[in-house]
Amino acid sequence: MIVYKFGGTSLADAERIRHAAGLVKDCAGPRVVVVSALAGVTDELVALADRAGTGSGAAGDLARLTEALWVRHEEAASGIFGAAPERAALMGRIDEVFSRLQAVLETAAVAAEVADRLRALDEVSAVGEDLSAQLMAAALAQAGLDAEVVDARSVVRTDDRFGGAVPRDEETARLIGKVLGPLLEAGRVPVLQGFVGATDDGTTTTLGRGGSDFTAAIIGAALGAEEVGIWTDVDGVLSAEPGHVGEARVLSELGYEEAVELAYFGAKVIHPAAAKHAAAGDVSLRVRNSGRPDSEGTLIRHDVRRVAGVAAVAFKPSVTLVKVRSRPMFMAYGFLARVFDVLARHRLPVDLVATSHTSTAFTLDEGEGLGAAAEELGRFAEVEVIPDLATVSVVGHGLLRRPGISAGVFSSLGGTPVHLISQASDVCLSFLVAADEAPAVVRRLHAELIESAPEGVGEAG
Ligand code: ADP
Ligand code: ASP
Ligand code: MG
Repeated sequence: MIVYKFGGTSLADAERIRHAAGLVKDCAGPRVVVVSALAGVTDELVALADRAGTGSGAAGDLARLTEALWVRHEEAASGIFGAAPERAALMGRIDEVFSRLQAVLETAAVAAEVADRLRALDEVSAVGEDLSAQLMAAALAQAGLDAEVVDARSVVRTDDRFGGAVPRDEETARLIGKVLGPLLEAGRVPVLQGFVGATDDGTTTTLGRGGSDFTAAIIGAALGAEEVGIWTDVDGVLSAEPGHVGEARVLSELGYEEAVELAYFGAKVIHPAAAKHAAAGDVSLRVRNSGRPDSEGTLIRHDVRRVAGVAAVAFKPSVTLVKVRSRPMFMAYGFLARVFDVLARHRLPVDLVATSHTSTAFTLDEGEGLGAAAEELGRFAEVEVIPDLATVSVVGHGLLRRPGISAGVFSSLGGTPVHLISQASDVCLSFLVAADEAPAVVRRLHAELIESAPEGVGEAG
């Protein structure tokens, strides 16, 4: 059993959708297809929902944006079916989704409560996947496969943290087996929206941006898939973001832990939760280029050949550093517990941490904001906040064991000031620099630790 997930970059228009359907057809045996929205559509939907929710869009603007989205999907439908009679049925289903979108936008426009707006935002952003799933199932049918859209809301059960809902693993796995199992046995090809889930009462949720990879990993793990293919627009996981480092090379294999760290610290080619979930379910992920299906891509799994060295470099912008220093009167041994208790109560997820006897420093994503937590921390400590930083991470294997890696890292930094250093494991070394310095630092690290490394060393596989 294989799960194929197509990202928006692989589903830009009718031609790309038909090409993706051809890849599914070429894959023999039972398979499940997971789709993202067409490229750029989620961004447009989020903008639409924001305008409706904040009342900042004139009614005419909203109508024009919605119309443009409709035209794009109508063109894709026509490109798949031409004038064939099936086109009318497909357009009927697409129009149904647009009517629902219209209704949600109207609700969002009158929603006074922020919670209601977040709920509406999820309903609106899920529409992109609702539409692409219809288009993909149609393209698969055109390719001669017996495809059927299965609404992800009927199998992916989540909590109600809108915008970043957490799937309930057991219930979701049970539903996936119950709903998809019989379809696969009957030789059908289920097509599901990535990124989309629902609470117990059926309210739409989303798993966070880039979450379709996560959906694919969840389905792959629940069904014990041989492999989850993550089809995208690059040749696999590269040793750095190709847009920043022209010399970045494809990693043929990567361990789960390296993949999680890399994804978490900036490599958006794979969602961190997908790698984490695949590891827990022991399912291999293969990141591949849908435009070059003959290339092998990157295999992410447990038992990769272990060569100590640096595999990749990544950076994550928009990070804030918070330094908390205990007041002399305060008893040092209770300090850390007190700091983290405040952060936990305010639900602030911390990325990197470094501590000394009397102070601790940690990072937050810029969007998180310290808010009321800063005031609480200020009651027993001095708090300093430094914004506009980036986390730069060096990921690989045996980083602590291989001599010279830290020296190489710090010599590549040259004169760049470093705000915090953190290394909690053998696979990832991270530090903070000013956000505008990060791309250059990454290029220097890549040149020093990867390009100049002997062949084979530096690749985790
Ligand atoms: P999809 O729509 O297929 O989900 P994404 O845009 O989410 O695609 O992810 C693919 C993009 O991730 C690539 O186009 C590339 O620019 C970016 N990227 C960032 N870091 C890396 C990396 N280390 N390796 C490969 N791609 C990366
Ligand atoms: N369409 C969603 C997004 O753009 C989910 C995904 O692409 O994985 O974030
Ligand atoms: Mg993605």
